Amino acid sequence: MPTRPKALGQQQRADRRRLADADRRAAKPWRSWYGLAVWQAIRERQLGLQPLCERHLKRGEIEPATIVNHVEPHRGDWDRFVAGPLESVCKACHDGEIQREERAAGRAAAEDRGVGRKFRA
Ligand SMILES: [Zn+2]
Repeated sequence: MPTRPKALGQQQRADRRRLADADRRAAKPWRSWYGLAVWQAIRERQLGLQPLCERHLKRGEIEPATIVNHVEPHRGDWDRFVAGPLESVCKACHDGEIQREERAAGRAAAEDRGVGRKFRA
């Protein structure tokens, strides 16, 4: 019966994915804010004001922006979420250098709180 174990494996993977998604939503409930009409309006306004990637512009390069990034992570603070400061960026800059900056900032903040020390070599 090769189909039954395979189907079970697929079901387990799907369940694990669903649980991981639920964990992510629980850890960062503000993710749903990005679906709100108020955010769509803020995003459209920002991309209208600055349609080019600001990270690329600093390097003297022209690249259309598709993502509105919070310059300072709002961490679930509604006022900071809606008020910014914001920057227009392309997907490459957002997924690359900005994610690296935020991971580094998150590590620094965690170390300030004493979290993660046991993982250090
Ligand atoms: Zn860019």
